[in-house]
Amino acid sequence: MLPFLRADLAQLTAYKPHPGGVAANGASAAPENLAATREHSIDRLDTNENPFDLPEELKQKLSWLYQETIESNRYPDGGHAALKQLIAQYVAESAGLDSVAITSANISIGNGSDELIRSLLIATCLGGEGAILVAKPTFSMYGILAQTLGIPVVTIDRLHPSFAVDLSAAQAAISQTNQPAIRAVFMVHPNSPTANALTVAELNWLRSLPESVLVVIDEAYFEFSQHTVVAELQRRSNWVILRTFSKAFRLAAHRVGYAIGHPELIAALEKVRLPYNLPATTQAATFWAMTQRQTLLSVIPMLLSERETLAQFLATHPALQVYPSAANFLFVRLQPTVAKTWNLSDEAALDKLFQSLKDQGTVIRKISDGLRITVGSQAENQRTIARLQSLLPK
Ligand SMILES: *Cc1c(COP(=O)(O)O)cnc(C)c1O
Repeated sequence: MLPFLRADLAQLTAYKPHPGGVAANGASAAPENLAATREHSIDRLDTNENPFDLPEELKQKLSWLYQETIESNRYPDGGHAALKQLIAQYVAESAGLDSVAITSANISIGNGSDELIRSLLIATCLGGEGAILVAKPTFSMYGILAQTLGIPVVTIDRLHPSFAVDLSAAQAAISQTNQPAIRAVFMVHPNSPTANALTVAELNWLRSLPESVLVVIDEAYFEFSQHTVVAELQRRSNWVILRTFSKAFRLAAHRVGYAIGHPELIAALEKVRLPYNLPATTQAATFWAMTQRQTLLSVIPMLLSERETLAQFLATHPALQVYPSAANFLFVRLQPTVAKTWNLSDEAALDKLFQSLKDQGTVIRKISDGLRITVGSQAENQRTIARLQSLLPK
């Protein structure tokens, strides 16, 4: 290892992007290869995106904007004022609040919500000031980003089969962790990979935390779940909500997310972010996505009904256990009979199913002793069902 690198980075496993700029068939992300991936219709059901690209008219509009209005040689707008206003309006509307309830002062925009997670960590815990608490299984980026910053990560478990947080363990972690104490708690609402929304008991526990602990509620899947705690922000200066344009809004390629919170916290996030964190093309795409939101979100009822069809198949299959979902993905585990029939360990049976699906062109995520399957288009879901049907023991 190079002698000037931090020793703790050697221990760290990087986030493995799926599909990592590499098509599922192993081809690189060169434009001609990506086009080939589309043609061979590999079903990419591993990263919880919306299966539909932007409507043709909107893509044309964006190409036009790129040609006619974006000066490639100039830095983009580094203040995001107009975008913040549009987002504030959308947030208020999404929570059924008065349009003045949320303003630009409550919004910070990031290069994906990943950037905001890092900014929150920098603003609260960096330099030995605090540790974070996560309940596993959950979104891995909180822990990974904390580790890259040398921030300690305290992990507790979730209960089975509800995947609710073990609240007595959570409370014990808060009271017993010191030097440094827990400064931030990260929760996904609904959680990934397990798809369960926060329960009343979990929310009450979060409400009971002292004001010295930041509560991060990641609503990446809000547009699917319709669960939001936005209305509580006015009463809770230590709560912040993260949302993203990478999922329901179909803008994963553009990298944009936002935080909603107390103006002082937002000001801190603005201080630590990079000055030109949002490329001009991303700003244009986000602007249009906001103004065209009704069109973009109009496919959600269909995706939710697809989720029910897929869930019903999974629930009735004797080889599978599926868990309730408030998001656009389903978490499943194999019944122990599968490993027995195949004469494999549980882990090897899961691997085998995952790999066979991949070989047939359905890429899903193997995670936390189970499989996470993104709800795709109707055709993709039908192929998932048919392939699972043929691969699994009856
Ligand atoms: C997908 C996802 C995000 C989105 O991250 P971006 O950086 O905005 O693409 C954030 N949080 C969770 C829990 C997610 O699943």
